[in-house]
Amino acid sequence: MATATFRFHGELVQFLARERRGIAFAHGCARAATVKHAIESLGVPHTETGRLTVNGRPATIARIVREGDSIEVFPHQPAGAEMQGAPDFVADAHLGGLARMLRMLGFDTLYENAIADREIVELAWRERRVILTRDRELLKCREVLRGCFVHARKPETQLQEVAARYRLERSMRPFTLCLHCNLRLEAVERGAVKESVPERIAERYAEFVRCPGCERIFWRGSHWERMREMLGASLTVRIPA
Ligand SMILES: [Zn+2]
Repeated sequence: MATATFRFHGELVQFLARERRGIAFAHGCARAATVKHAIESLGVPHTETGRLTVNGRPATIARIVREGDSIEVFPHQPAGAEMQGAPDFVADAHLGGLARMLRMLGFDTLYENAIADREIVELAWRERRVILTRDRELLKCREVLRGCFVHARKPETQLQEVAARYRLERSMRPFTLCLHCNLRLEAVERGAVKESVPERIAERYAEFVRCPGCERIFWRGSHWERMREMLGASLTVRIPA
């Protein structure tokens, strides 16, 4: 056993037992435990942590905890300017509402309501996706390199959290993905959709897009306006037309 002192900062305290919030506390760690192992045994998934110091010096979560160490853990910071574009996501089975809103904004988000945790971890690894989940055990897996614990319960608030963490407003491309298939929509000629949409729609709208997967056809009608309003209200940013 090695007893070290831990202090967690910012939103990380939400993962801790109440009596450990906002203070430095001693914690006994298994012999040769890494900082990752120690902080996860206290309830904090490694994906949620950012800067870390041991005895005042920068350290990584792979550091072995030694007797008497003083460990300070800070939360993940929003992605900086160096981040190129937005990440792709895979949402766990409980985050269908959030996945749908991310797709509306044009962010590639895999989601299936019966997907197993194992599959989520493998997909994220293979396709370098960020895992979105409210299950902290899932984020503790060693194979999970990029993950995001979603604190809120309502999809609108969840979207705000994810948007702030990954600065999504910089790279959104609203209404470019199929909400059902997560595939990029393709422009189609009005003449080509005449058979597939009601006559009054074909007359009224000039631009149409089609999903290459399910072949659904979309246009900027009232449904589109409602989605635009809903997203604008959640993000407090103007959704480009
Ligand atoms: Zn589709």
